[in-house]
Amino acid sequence: MKEELDLKFEDYPLHVPTEKRTVNKLQSLLSEIEECGSALTAKTAVKHYHKFMNELSTDMGVIEVRYTLDTRNRVYKNAQEKVDEISPLISSYGVKYEKVLLKAKYRKDLEKIYGKYLFKIFENNQKSFDEKIIPDLIQENKLTSQYDQIMGGAQIKFRGEIYNLSQLGKFVADPDRETRKEAAIAMDNWLGEHEKEIADIYDKLVHLRDGMAKKLGYKNFIDLGYCLLGRTDYDSKKVKGYREQIKEEVVPLAQKLFKKQMKELGIKNPQTYDYNLRFKSGNPVPVGDSKVLTSIAKKMYEDMSSESAEFINFMIDHQLLDLDARAGKAPGGYCTYFPVYKAPFIFSNFNGTEHDVNVLCHEGGHAFQAYLSRNIKIPELQNPTLESCEIHSMSMEFFAWPYMDKFFGKDAEKYKYSHLTDSIEFLPYGITIDEFQHWVYEHPNATHEERCAKYKEIEEANLPNRKYDDCPVAAKGTRWMRQSHVFGTPFYYIDYTLAQVVAFQFLAEDLKNHEKAWKKYVKLCKLGGTLPFTGLLEKVHLRNPFEDGNVAKNIRPLLKVLKEFDTSKF
Ligand SMILES: [Zn+2]
Repeated sequence: MKEELDLKFEDYPLHVPTEKRTVNKLQSLLSEIEECGSALTAKTAVKHYHKFMNELSTDMGVIEVRYTLDTRNRVYKNAQEKVDEISPLISSYGVKYEKVLLKAKYRKDLEKIYGKYLFKIFENNQKSFDEKIIPDLIQENKLTSQYDQIMGGAQIKFRGEIYNLSQLGKFVADPDRETRKEAAIAMDNWLGEHEKEIADIYDKLVHLRDGMAKKLGYKNFIDLGYCLLGRTDYDSKKVKGYREQIKEEVVPLAQKLFKKQMKELGIKNPQTYDYNLRFKSGNPVPVGDSKVLTSIAKKMYEDMSSESAEFINFMIDHQLLDLDARAGKAPGGYCTYFPVYKAPFIFSNFNGTEHDVNVLCHEGGHAFQAYLSRNIKIPELQNPTLESCEIHSMSMEFFAWPYMDKFFGKDAEKYKYSHLTDSIEFLPYGITIDEFQHWVYEHPNATHEERCAKYKEIEEANLPNRKYDDCPVAAKGTRWMRQSHVFGTPFYYIDYTLAQVVAFQFLAEDLKNHEKAWKKYVKLCKLGGTLPFTGLLEKVHLRNPFEDGNVAKNIRPLLKVLKEFDTSKF
């Protein structure tokens, strides 16, 4: 065991799980649990199950990371295909295992050992799965990957060259207004050409999900969607109340910030694409490449606390950061965790912009939590639900503020200001996407035109500054079609806003009393997923954004912070 913890990433063995061995093993572990007559014997059986699942998820994780690091390697590609093939089987055994423990005569005794929340998680999983929806789940996967292919394969003509969506994004934020406008029009034309195709995929997804919900006994997909996200402590009513608070407290503030930005840029009759340009003098630029930034991050984490110092040195010494973009590497960024090695891993594609610093802080926050939760013995309780995970990462972005002069030099204040305003301005968009999805699944038979009209209505209420004079397709209310979460993971998007609101409290408390705020943050990270979202907040004395008035309490201190920036210097 000790030896395993000393391995570097390059020395991790590649074990490709075979279907036969995996199923046999899972079957025998399941039988072992079924034969238990008491909590005491079950405890040993559960331990065996956890051990195997940890090995399996480590093997699958190593395959996924190696494959995304080098998608052209045939060995990794084949291994990844094997993993994709057997994953549904593994999940179905997971559901069976949970069912046995839920129905055990000695369940009360087990609850004393593992806590009640674990059983709530199990119950939740049972409510969102049944063998009879497996064909639907396969179909759902097909449809979402069709969507991903269309978006990922976009080839957009712009000024004689061909770009994909993210490459074109750079021009939509160009300091030259004509360039922004032309790029926005190119994107609009592309969306117009693919509108029907994407709308059809979405329509099929909505009907499919509505059908699954009805097969499982739900009125519509909303409650099932919440269940699939592991939400055991709040429902759509609570979320609606929370959105109302954002409308009241944040929508007017965001509008003020947008107006200020346009005034400073000297733009009259601002269009949606104009808001991508933050400063006349351009965006903040970090001081160096990944090597330079990683060494700054190392010093930052070492300086923050003993826990974070131990963490960053573990990451660097064990080669658990792969940050540079290169040919063959999959796009995007993520943080994952290998249970056997107790090791988090950060994957990214640095591009020389402020995004690189954000990865070191945001994904660093995720990895720091994984590292601090590594000794939680029950794998299901190591990571919380998604809105809580984003608290770890988004708060770390703020705890990193005192080190921004190292990352950005003279651009540090610029970075902090744009980071804070972006975070505030994101909230009205986040609730727009969320409100829209609730309407969609309440009205599964609506047409594409009706969906767009509804989106436009919600957007006009939450983001009245968005104007699309030159972009007729976007003007119809089609912005949601470019938001992948709407297709891939319904109702997930609001999680980012919830976490953001909580992270704002960390910023305010950190500016007031760093030691106290940091201690609270470390405590939250160490709790991992032992409690649901609102339970974690209560445990560490953070405000619950669902409670009336709490959004205001977290937003108001930011006004003072915003005032301290002299934006005339930017
Ligand atoms: Zn994140």
